[in-house]
Amino acid sequence: MDTPQVDVVVVGAGLAGLAAARRLVEAGASVAVVEARERVGGRTHTLVHEGATIDVGGQWIGPGQPRMLALARELGVATFPTPLGGKQVLDLAGTLSSYAGTIPKVGIAHLLQLQLALTLIERIRKGVPPEAPWDAPGAAALDGQTLLGWVRRHLPSSVVRQLLTPTVRTVFGADPGELSMLHFAHYVASAGGFMPLVDTEGGFQELRLVDGAQAFSEGLADRVGRERVHLGRPVRGVSQDDDGVTVHTDDGDLRGGHAIVAMPLGLLDRLRWAPALPPLRDQLHQRCPMGATVKVFCAYARPFWRDAGLSGEAVCTEGPISVVFDNTAPGGPPMLLAFVTGTPARDWASRPQAARLQAVLDLLARYFGPEAATPVWTHEQDWVTDPWAGGCPITLFPPGTLSVFGPVLREPVGRVHWAGTETATRCTGFMEGAVTSGERAADEVIAARR
Ligand SMILES: Cc1cc2nc3c(=O)[nH]c(=O)nc-3n(C[C@H](O)[C@H](O)[C@H](O)COP(=O)(O)OP(=O)(O)OC[C@H]3O[C@@H](n4cnc5c(N)ncnc54)[C@H](O)[C@@H]3O)c2cc1C
Repeated sequence: MDTPQVDVVVVGAGLAGLAAARRLVEAGASVAVVEARERVGGRTHTLVHEGATIDVGGQWIGPGQPRMLALARELGVATFPTPLGGKQVLDLAGTLSSYAGTIPKVGIAHLLQLQLALTLIERIRKGVPPEAPWDAPGAAALDGQTLLGWVRRHLPSSVVRQLLTPTVRTVFGADPGELSMLHFAHYVASAGGFMPLVDTEGGFQELRLVDGAQAFSEGLADRVGRERVHLGRPVRGVSQDDDGVTVHTDDGDLRGGHAIVAMPLGLLDRLRWAPALPPLRDQLHQRCPMGATVKVFCAYARPFWRDAGLSGEAVCTEGPISVVFDNTAPGGPPMLLAFVTGTPARDWASRPQAARLQAVLDLLARYFGPEAATPVWTHEQDWVTDPWAGGCPITLFPPGTLSVFGPVLREPVGRVHWAGTETATRCTGFMEGAVTSGERAADEVIAARR
């Protein structure tokens, strides 16, 4: 085969690929980053509307994400606090109520069960090592059931089950019946607990980015060197031999001594691999679907929900919306953001556009008053139909996957190393996990090259 053109080819210019490339360049390696899209950032993508940024992909960071906070300082990506104050709306199977804080007002019996659920989840997650969930005591049993099955067994309250659905749909883009309990527990363990995942103040939703989350990738791409980042070149296959790795694109091949593949795990089965991947790795790729998330943004002339003492947050148990947030950015128009996630998101695109928007506006008007029905601007971002994400926000591990195939998640195959938020040991699924996974993969290659 040909002599490698660069030391390392990185596939994917999301946060993981760019963080890997940046570390390699700083270590003196020659690098080529190959990206399918015409932009960097992957599952982070920032639009600008009326001078304010709108993150149609990942958008929040929080105190539990030290690598992102450090990167924000380094790259000059300013943060601002997520708007707080006012009451949240709960739509519990059509019955509306409002509440302050994180825990909704439901009857005392349900609250006790909710507390029990949190205690049990906390106990389980403490036994799950974030770097090796397959080594958790009882890993096979946890992985042999869905989150829904576990909840049904331990929590008889139907209200608790109803409340769980929008939370899980928003975090995973999937319904509780789709995830293995081990995946759920690992996700919570790698985030440091369940409450940080769902909390705004002190949690993962505390801060937003003034310039948008894509600014992280733009900053990293500058440090890598734009001439090294090849946009608009979908990788179709990867072959390797004793001397290097060839990455095949429609516009020609790129060859490196090593490769770091930093694509969503759920898309890796779409590439041709030569020689064939080892069976466990191949079957891991076959088993991992992507979640389903659609974000719907509605801008208004004024933040009328605040007049009514409402925060702009809502939780809806029956869909199609799962949660709503006040998405107003400094200097931008007042804005609500509705998440359509899990089952309702999957066939969203097959419904007429006007009917989709109307379904969202009807619910917003129910929660926040009639003014919500007349936005001055809307934008819908459907990640399910995005060919280079295949769904979002993350890859799912259905029952029987993580405990059996997890051990090969980060294991290099010859000269091919793996990055991407799904391979992270901390904050897997988040931007933090993406960046740290890229840096870990780069360190592996640097060590291998020595
Ligand atoms: C709607 C949504 C909301 C989210 N909310 C948050 C949040 O608030 N906070 C948070 O921390 N995280 C959030 N996330 C998750 C976060 O955005 C991701 O964890 C992170 O961006 C993943 O980075 P990555 O580099 O691992 O993968 P990606 O960003 O997916 O990067 C992979 C790259 O590979 C490219 N690619 C794919 N196929 C090919 C191919 N064949 N050839 C070449 N390139 C290819 C893709 O185009 C992409 O650029 C959210 C994600 C979404 C979509």
